[in-house]
Amino acid sequence: MQTIIISIGDELIGGASVDTNSAYLSARLAERGIVAVRHVTVGDDANRITQAIIGAAAEAELVIITGGLGPTLDDLTRRALADAMGVELIEDAHSAKRIKAFFDRIGRTMKPSNLTQAMIPAGAEAMDNDCGTAPGIAARLGRVDVFALPGPPNEMTEMFERQVAPRLGVAGALARRVLHAFGTGESDIGERIADLMARDANPKVGTTAKGGIISIRIVATGQTPADTDAAAENTANEIRHRLGELIFGQDEQTLASVVGDALKDCGMTLATAESCTGGMIGQMMTETPGASEYFLGGIVAYANSAKTATLNVPAEVIESHGAVSEQVADTMARGVREKFGADFALSVTGIAGPDGGSDDKPVGLVYIALSGPSSSKVHRHIFSGARDIIRRRAALTTINHLRLALTESEGRASKNKSHQPSS
Ligand code: ATP
Ligand code: MG
Repeated sequence: MQTIIISIGDELIGGASVDTNSAYLSARLAERGIVAVRHVTVGDDANRITQAIIGAAAEAELVIITGGLGPTLDDLTRRALADAMGVELIEDAHSAKRIKAFFDRIGRTMKPSNLTQAMIPAGAEAMDNDCGTAPGIAARLGRVDVFALPGPPNEMTEMFERQVAPRLGVAGALARRVLHAFGTGESDIGERIADLMARDANPKVGTTAKGGIISIRIVATGQTPADTDAAAENTANEIRHRLGELIFGQDEQTLASVVGDALKDCGMTLATAESCTGGMIGQMMTETPGASEYFLGGIVAYANSAKTATLNVPAEVIESHGAVSEQVADTMARGVREKFGADFALSVTGIAGPDGGSDDKPVGLVYIALSGPSSSKVHRHIFSGARDIIRRRAALTTINHLRLALTESEGRASKNKSHQPSS
């Protein structure tokens, strides 16, 4: 099935925003065997949008439009689509009710312009927007399916996954898995699973790297859902087997959420002492709702004086070894562990650059300490890249050290369990 994706917005053609919606849609469609043959970008001009829709519908079998569904005067997609279909816009009562309810819920008075969002081309269908106010539109233009989705990427992806994808009707079945790895580069992973990544393979395997996390996508197509799912799971298991502890989770999981779950499982708590990461670890750990069950809190001790005052790192230790040292990392972790009464503490101190490096302590040098109930350990790393990359890698690596320690102790616990005589 040939598809054209149309992105709408002056900000896109003017260079103020980059069109990520089309890339997302193309990738997700490709997984279903649907090929995007063209991306079209049009400014906020009703006539041009109409022409783009008519042109796309003449060329493709599926047209997906994103953007321009908002309440403001420059949001023209509804009007343009109605013109392309040669029909009038009429108010969709269900959407109008949802928009009113949305404003009631957030306690704000609705402006009349918001109701223009409930105007849908006659004969088309409104699609509920669970992340915002503007409903999407599902329409037919001759034999061609046309979907119009909101521009904000979070609203667009949600609506695509929940409401458009299920209507696309792939021939046969499709099963997806996404595994996440941390601790090595994309090329290393690519080499270890090269045979599984052959372009014509089924399941199809591909990798993407983002901020140090390598995600491995597995897409199986087949005749029946059960067989297809089993094929995806087999490939996922083979990859898990080959990459071992590099794989930390799948789908929506993050390093922090995985560590959070592991802490919760064993009823343990965590506190953090951060220098060069400036609170990033705390931020990552608290992204998961309910994190207070295991994450007690953290201290950002950036200046040397703060390390001494809040974490009891003796000034002499800083003086003799330097703030970026094994000794300081270790003392920070022990200090924060005691302060919060936590089972585990993580600390991080390093040189994020661009200045401040020397021959024996280069930019990118980071000490990470993990202090636990039975032992403490300090790890030395040298990260490369710009300041923000070094800081993010340091934060993720710190969390990953705790993950590895927890999986190791879990492994030991289950080994011990298996040695116990059965009663
Ligand atoms: P709204 O109700 O927010 O006005 P809308 O459907 O009218 O929604 P737009 O006004 O076109 O959408 O865009 C809203 C936001 O979404 C903008 O900040 C814009 O940068 C972003 N956006 C729109 N289209 C895209 C795109 N193709 N790729 C990435 N971001 C986009
Ligand atoms: Mg808008």
